[in-house]
Amino acid sequence: MNTTDALCLTREAERLDALRKLDLLDTPPSESFDRITRMAAQLFGLPIAAISLTDSDRQWFKSRVGVSHWSIPRAQAPCAAVADSSSLLVVPDLLRDDAFRDSPLAASGVRFYAGAPLVTAEGHCLGAMCVLGVEPRRATEAELLSLRDLASMVMAQIELQHALGRIDPASGLPNRKQFIEDFKDLAIDRPEGESRVAVLMNLATPEQLDSAMRVMGAAYLDAMLGEAARWLRARIGEGQKLYHVGATQFATIAAPGFDLAACHADCVAWLRQHHHAASARYVTTAAFGLAPFAVGVNDCLDVLRCCHNAAQDAIDTASRVGVYSASQDESYQRRFALLRAFGGALEQNDQLHLVYQPRIDLASGRCVGAEALLRWDHPELGAVSPAEFIPIIEQTSVARGTTAWVLEAALTQLAQWQADGIGLQLSVNVSPANLVETDFAARVIDGVARHALSAASLELEITEGAIMANPNQAQMTLSALAQAGIAIAIDDFGTGYSSLAYLQRLPADVVKIDQSFIRGLDRNPRGQALVGAMITLSHDLGYRVVAEGVERETIAALLRSAGCDEVQGYLYARPMPPAEFIDWWQARSGE
Ligand code: C2E
Ligand code: MG
Ligand code: MG
Repeated sequence: MNTTDALCLTREAERLDALRKLDLLDTPPSESFDRITRMAAQLFGLPIAAISLTDSDRQWFKSRVGVSHWSIPRAQAPCAAVADSSSLLVVPDLLRDDAFRDSPLAASGVRFYAGAPLVTAEGHCLGAMCVLGVEPRRATEAELLSLRDLASMVMAQIELQHALGRIDPASGLPNRKQFIEDFKDLAIDRPEGESRVAVLMNLATPEQLDSAMRVMGAAYLDAMLGEAARWLRARIGEGQKLYHVGATQFATIAAPGFDLAACHADCVAWLRQHHHAASARYVTTAAFGLAPFAVGVNDCLDVLRCCHNAAQDAIDTASRVGVYSASQDESYQRRFALLRAFGGALEQNDQLHLVYQPRIDLASGRCVGAEALLRWDHPELGAVSPAEFIPIIEQTSVARGTTAWVLEAALTQLAQWQADGIGLQLSVNVSPANLVETDFAARVIDGVARHALSAASLELEITEGAIMANPNQAQMTLSALAQAGIAIAIDDFGTGYSSLAYLQRLPADVVKIDQSFIRGLDRNPRGQALVGAMITLSHDLGYRVVAEGVERETIAALLRSAGCDEVQGYLYARPMPPAEFIDWWQARSGE
């Protein structure tokens, strides 16, 4: 290939790129273009006119009059010659023209052709505004001038439509689409691997946005955005482009040479000024997120996501300017992946199962009950601990479905045990979200009845935190359950912040002292005093006391002498699947 050929190929590649970027090909017809095409046909008094775009192998018509198809092959099409030369072409008679005599167009009966080039501001020719006739004909200077004018009108329309899709109407700033495009262009204009910083400012949290919209309406939001956009544009400096990339988010790519430290310092200073200047300062929390990236290496949407995460995480910090952290992102990704996978596990029903850990009466040494604990075997991640996934799902409504699943499985097991003559009480852990479900108590009571169980054979474990999150609602739910005879235990006692006044009013039967107080108790005299006081206090309030996490005989002995009623822990048994649990129970009953 010689250099001229190579140059032509590059120019053609750039031309096609310019055409594709405009997102015009294969879009539906539009009246704004059809109007121009009709004018062209009328002006020449000809039956056929078209806005014809030159794709790699076809001429595609954005608008057409007098033609029934949407495209014709590029080869031997006069419009393709216009695109190649970027100049006006008039063919008075196709049959007398060496280049087009044998073209499909001539074969279809077309004789006359005139086409004016459609040229972008950057000089790429996209195709032609053309008119065609079935008789040989000449074109006057005035007609050709008009054809050129019409081609310019088509280009103005194309560029207008393109710009409209890239400007946010509320702020008048280039939008996310434009950000993505400019980000891609960085890889062409700047050295590969150059380190740069993307900066995102989020004006408000989704909750703040929601309440502002509720109270003040959309006009308030528009005013707030306009104000922030003007303010930011004044700060980022001449020649720096500001983008409106999300409902309340603005972004910019810091100029070359601006490193993370410089960006961070600027953002901190800006935010301090903004807090004093912004009219929304008392109702919103603005935060900045910064993400370093390498030109031509990092993906644009991923960089925006990183900025967004950094801004989110910064909301609760003193400066409210955050820098993207990969490790934080990883843990967030895992949390999100677990949450999504758990939703699926709950539906599929083959990844979840319950294990049972015995509860031992300290005085008699007999097993008097068991706690049902959820286990999740993820097909790829393996066993995921409830200590990891329960806190994640408890932040969402999935917690409700989870308890429903656990409760049903536990009641089924309990009914089976009763049928086998094993009289045990079974404890089930309940999430905070359950206590505010208005029909929770009714559904539990119904479940017990459906399995023909006595209410007292079921105990629900509730943490202090769950109760204190919504004390009134919790009190109502717990009272309804207690009234029906279902036992209530306060789980992880000592780790939350329940007030004694509250505890005293709760219809609970049992307090389970958290294992953090029990672990190492035999080597901790102050801990012994504390646990002793907890046991006395609980007894005085009328509760039975269970100690969790008993791992050594010495600890069991201490608890026995302190008057603790029951224990649970690895000293006696780990949580076990049903069959293993029965073997353990039978062996122990036989002793
Ligand atoms: P929890 O309700 O306080 O359950 C006791 C936890 O302590 C269990 O952990 C149990 O295996 C563990 N454990 C028992 N004895 C010992 C011991 O001697 N030493 C040590 N180191 N640990 C002991 P697991 O099964 O990993 O559950 C962790 C937490 O996850 C539970 O704490 C509970 O808050 C939650 N969870 C488990 N299953 C469910 C469920 O079905 N629903 C809800 N909402 N939460 C659940
Ligand atoms: Mg528990
Ligand atoms: Mg516990």
